[in-house]
Amino acid sequence: MDSAQHLATQFSPRPFSVNSALRTFSRHFGILVLLGMSIPGTSQTSILGFTPSAAAHEAEVESKFKAIPTPEEERHQHHIFTAEPHVAGSPRNNELARYIADQWRQEGLEDVVIRRYDVYSSNPKSTFLEMTAPVHYRASLREPPVLGDTDSKNKNISAAWSGMSISGEVTAPLVYAHSGNPEDYDFLRKQGIDVKGKIVLVRYSNPYSYRGFKALTAEREGVAALLIYSDPAEDGYKKGTVVPKGPWGPEYHIQRGAITYDFIVPGDPLTPGWASLPGAKRIPVEEAKSVPKIMAMPLSWHDAKPLLAHMDGPVAPDDWQGGLPIKYHLGGGRVRVHVKIVMDNATQPYYVVEGRIRGSQLPDEWVVLGNHRDAWVFGGVDPSSGTASMMELTRALGKLAKSGVRPRRTLVVCSWDGEEVGLTGSTEWGEQFANELRNKAVAYINVDEATSGPNFHGQAVASLSPMLLEATHSLKDPSGKSLYDAWKNSVTRERREAKSTEEVTDSNLADTRIGSGSDHTVFLNFVGMPVLGLGFEGPYGVYHSAYDDFFWMNHFGDPGYRYHTLMSQLWGVLALRLANADLLPFDFAGYASNIRQFVSEMTKGKDISQLDLKPVLDAIDEFEAAGKRLDESAARALASGAIDPVLAKTVNHGEMEVERNWLNPDGIPGRTWFKHMLYGARFTYAHLELPGLTEAVEKQDWSTAKQQADILLHALESNTRLVNDLNSNLSVAAPAAK
Ligand SMILES: [Zn+2]
Repeated sequence: MDSAQHLATQFSPRPFSVNSALRTFSRHFGILVLLGMSIPGTSQTSILGFTPSAAAHEAEVESKFKAIPTPEEERHQHHIFTAEPHVAGSPRNNELARYIADQWRQEGLEDVVIRRYDVYSSNPKSTFLEMTAPVHYRASLREPPVLGDTDSKNKNISAAWSGMSISGEVTAPLVYAHSGNPEDYDFLRKQGIDVKGKIVLVRYSNPYSYRGFKALTAEREGVAALLIYSDPAEDGYKKGTVVPKGPWGPEYHIQRGAITYDFIVPGDPLTPGWASLPGAKRIPVEEAKSVPKIMAMPLSWHDAKPLLAHMDGPVAPDDWQGGLPIKYHLGGGRVRVHVKIVMDNATQPYYVVEGRIRGSQLPDEWVVLGNHRDAWVFGGVDPSSGTASMMELTRALGKLAKSGVRPRRTLVVCSWDGEEVGLTGSTEWGEQFANELRNKAVAYINVDEATSGPNFHGQAVASLSPMLLEATHSLKDPSGKSLYDAWKNSVTRERREAKSTEEVTDSNLADTRIGSGSDHTVFLNFVGMPVLGLGFEGPYGVYHSAYDDFFWMNHFGDPGYRYHTLMSQLWGVLALRLANADLLPFDFAGYASNIRQFVSEMTKGKDISQLDLKPVLDAIDEFEAAGKRLDESAARALASGAIDPVLAKTVNHGEMEVERNWLNPDGIPGRTWFKHMLYGARFTYAHLELPGLTEAVEKQDWSTAKQQADILLHALESNTRLVNDLNSNLSVAAPAAK
């Protein structure tokens, strides 16, 4: 079976049958009317998706839950996870998987298993770099210890390496290509500079552009080896005080990272679209679309500076100049560099830890929570801040369960492996359980970098944005304000700094533009689940370096572990609300207006006279109207005090189906693994809305654009029908007052 056929068989959309749901519903209709007339609860508490009495109960459960996580425990867990480097596939990372499994069993989680996936992985044997002309310089490729940080002396800290680089050796002239984007190479061509067969030096860029895209661009240009360095203008002394006195990247810090082409297909490169279980079919590595065919290596500015300082050729343009006190040149052939990289790229096991708290009433409806475990070195922020928050979350949930307080739906918690290599563990797990998830999953909540500072950033598909906002009202930020107010303040400040004129409102506070680059990807783009992503951010210049560690967190990121604690609380409150809601709090009217915005942003300033989007815009209006009607009837049904469980189940399963209906089984053109028609990612990992349609419009490929618009139109129409059906079910249950 080839990969396309495999995808087709694994992807089995389960058409939602309203007829059968209605049949089930009508059998219980009599009971429902009686329940609907019962006296509503007396509490004033209101929570989206809850009846008044259920909301009052939920508030009690949440206050018990929120009292459990402590800063001391967060710090204790963080210390365990940051004690040693734990890159994907390493013995230490596997030991941490066993530790998590043991903890979860003790905490009272159920069905704890460690799942093994045999994936194509990447480890360095040795990396070497020297300048051979005009003077000799041997790069250190190391991050020396800094004062006060005992972990920085650890002998297990790796040298500079890029995940998924190929092995090889080359000596060639050096060219400087700014950020290494296609337009940078166009500029070099105009200057008469040929990069074929040469070694190219580029820098990490701001705004962030995924290094794998720099590698693919260099590979397409015929570059022999790519060196990517951290310029002080991006994350070093030009930004502020550096480690060990401040949070920014010091002279020697090296941003490791993979260059995997996971924007084409994530996960194990040899099993694109299916799980890497023992005995699974594997494609030859030569055919794997996500495996780079270029040598790459990251550098500190300490090692890049002598190279840059000796370069000749034209002076680089102003916006190519960086933060070092030298004139940057494009490279006229004077500097020659010798690179040797020996990798051990081969199939090896990755381990995903999975545990759950079984739901008391709806065990076959799942709320999935996850964080990756693997780190480039210690992973102080990325990801161990998230791992510590996850461990406090599970301790609190386990404690509640032991005291008899169980969520109604099942909570599934996962510790992913190999996120840093190619979103690998979550992708394999998501592919393995895709069909089950499409039947059972309510939502996925991802926490990767939980804490690098005090500024909250919340991402949500638009249907979940209101419930995220509501939850932040019920939590207290360490500043003393509600998390909601703190969030609004920091987003207002950031937009002002970015000179944005967009006023911060409840409808644009949450970031509903979701790209790739973390473990939510498989759940949103392949399985079709609504996702949330949470993180506290601040000045953070040591990403993927050895200095992202326990010392950094205790001095700069979150010295009191209060934001870690708040993250555990927020993560848990969201999970509990999704797990306990009577009716799932999905806002489809808000979703529709978000989609309308996506369309208007896509077409802004473009000539789209070749494409008639009126039917799509009309269908968005219809979907919005259906969503509003459903909101109203859901509110009435909830206010009535009780909802028949069979009706609730029907409505909830229908609501879950809406997100699945945004999937196009054929995927977006050229990247069939990515199936969501509203959300995708550019090769840089940047968010890309309406990906199939937008890419076609950008290429002015009007026949593909028309085809993509039709696919979107049909999805809008079927979701409108579905939401209308759910609405009629609910309105019969709780008719509007005359
Ligand atoms: Zn991460």
